[in-house]
Amino acid sequence: MPDTGLPDSLINALTKCLGRDNVLTDPYDLDRYSGDALSPTRAFGAEDSFDRLADVVARPGSTEDVSAVLKLANEFGTPVIPFGAGTGVMGATVPAMGGIVLDMQRMNRILAINPTDMTAEVEAGVVLEDLENALFPLGLMPGHDPYSVPIATVAGTISTNGVGYRAGANGPMGDQVVALEAVLPDGRVMSTRAVPNQSSGPSLKHLFIGSEGVFGIITKATIRVFRLPEAQVFRSVAFDTFDQGFNAAAELFALGLRPTLVDLTEEDDGIMFHLLFEGFKEGVEANEKRSLAVCAQFGGRYMGPEPTMAYWEDRRQSAENYKVSALGKPRSVRWGRWRGRRGFDYLHLGLPISKVLEYKKRCDEIMSQGGVRATEYAIWSRPELFSMLIVPESGTAAGTRDQLGKTVEQVLLLAQDMGGVMEYCHGVGVKLNHLLAREMGVGQEVVKAMKHALDPNNIMNPGKLGL
Ligand SMILES: Cc1cc2nc3c(=O)[nH]c(=O)nc-3n(C[C@H](O)[C@H](O)[C@H](O)COP(=O)(O)OP(=O)(O)OC[C@H]3O[C@@H](n4cnc5c(N)ncnc54)[C@H](O)[C@@H]3O)c2cc1C
Repeated sequence: MPDTGLPDSLINALTKCLGRDNVLTDPYDLDRYSGDALSPTRAFGAEDSFDRLADVVARPGSTEDVSAVLKLANEFGTPVIPFGAGTGVMGATVPAMGGIVLDMQRMNRILAINPTDMTAEVEAGVVLEDLENALFPLGLMPGHDPYSVPIATVAGTISTNGVGYRAGANGPMGDQVVALEAVLPDGRVMSTRAVPNQSSGPSLKHLFIGSEGVFGIITKATIRVFRLPEAQVFRSVAFDTFDQGFNAAAELFALGLRPTLVDLTEEDDGIMFHLLFEGFKEGVEANEKRSLAVCAQFGGRYMGPEPTMAYWEDRRQSAENYKVSALGKPRSVRWGRWRGRRGFDYLHLGLPISKVLEYKKRCDEIMSQGGVRATEYAIWSRPELFSMLIVPESGTAAGTRDQLGKTVEQVLLLAQDMGGVMEYCHGVGVKLNHLLAREMGVGQEVVKAMKHALDPNNIMNPGKLGL
C-alpha cells in the first residue's frame, strides 16, 4: 500500500469503486495533478499554498462514481479538488490542504446534440475543441471561444465563468449554460431543467457558475450551440488614442450593436480595434455598416480586414504551445516556463463603463510610482471588461517580484474602490483569495452560509473563495 498520507481504508475504498487504474498515487502523478497554470512566482503572497501536493488522484467515469467518491470523502473528512484540465491561471486546482484531486477527464462523452433545441448535452470533462469538432459537421458551433479551446474543459470553463473571442455577441461561458447536473458534497445528484429561463424558484445552475468547485461537482452540462455563421466579416479600425476607441466601443453597445468579437488593444505600436460580425447576411451587413460609421465618428481609421483576420487565425496559438510544453506535465516543467523571463502579470478587471478611462489613468500613476508599466491595455467583448499586461520597467523577474506584487495589489484594490471587480474571467483561486471578502462584503457571509449548509465538513475545494 503506497504511503499517501490518507488512511489505507480510504485508498482501498476508492480503488474498489474506480478500479486500480483510476486511483493514482505515484509521486509523479501527484505532482503533475497539483495545481494549474499558475506558478508561485506569479502568486504574489500566496506562495505557501503550493507547499502541499495531492494525496491521491481519483478518476471517476460516471456520475455514480463521483457520488461514491464524495460520500467517501465526507466520511473521512478529506478535501476534494475538482480538476478539469488544470489550465486555470489562478491556482483554483491547487490542493492547498492536500486530499483527493478529482480528475474529470474520463467523463468526456458528448451525450446529445439537439439542432432543434440548439443545445448540446455533454459530460463535464469534454474539451471545448472536441465539442467544436463534433458540432462542425452538423453546421453548429459552441458559443464560448477562449484562447484555451484546445485545452480547457466544459465544466472548468463554467466553474470560472470564462470569457472568449465570441463573448461580444454570446456573453461569457455562464451565459451558455442551459442546465447542469451536479453532485452535491454529500453525494446527492441534482439536475436543473433544460430551458433557458425559469421563474419557478431561483435558478440553481447559477450556484455552480463561477464557483470554482466549492459547492459540488458538475457532472453534465447542457449548453447553447449556435449555427455556423451564414456571413462572417472581419474589420480593423485604428485610433490615435485609447480613449477615442473606448468611446466608440461604448457607443456601439449603447446603440445595441453586438459584434461577435470586440477587442480594442493599445500596444507600443498603436491602438487597434478588432471587430468581427457574424450571423445572417442582412444582419451582418447592417451591423458592420453602422459600427464602422460609429468608429469614424470617434476618429477611427478603417484598416481593412487583414489585421483582424491575422489576429483571429492566431488566437489559439498560446494554448497550442501550452498543450505541447506544459499540459499534464510536472510542476517543475510548468513553472520552469517562466524561469529566466521578466516578471509580468495579466490583469482582467471589470468596471462600470463610466469608470474605465479614469481607472486606466489612475493605474498609470500607480504603476509609474511602482516602476511598472503596461505593455498592453485592452477591452475585450464589452467596454466594461478591461485588461492590462504589466511588466517591471527594468530588472530581473526575481529582483522585481515584490514591487510588481505590490503594484498589482494596489490596482486590484483601486478597481474594487471604484465599484468594480478584480477579475472578470479567470476566477479567484489562491491568487486573489485574500481580496474576495473585501470585494463581496456581506455577500461573502451569504456564500459562507450556503457553503456551510451544503458542505458542513468543507470537503469541496477547501480554502478557495475564502471558505
Ligand atoms: C494558454 C491559455 C489560454 C487561456 N485563455 C483563456 C481565455 O481566453 N479565457 C478564459 O476565460 N480563460 C483562459 N485561460 C484560463 C483557463 O483556460 C480557464 O480558466 C478555463 O476555464 C479552465 O478550464 P479547465 O478545464 O482547465 O479547468 P481547471 O483549471 O481544471 O479548473 C478550473 C476551476 O474549475 C473547477 N472545476 C473543474 N472541473 C469542475 C467540475 N466538473 N465541477 C466543479 N468544478 C470544477 C476547478 O476546481 C477549478 O476551481 C487560459 C489558460 C491558458 C493556459
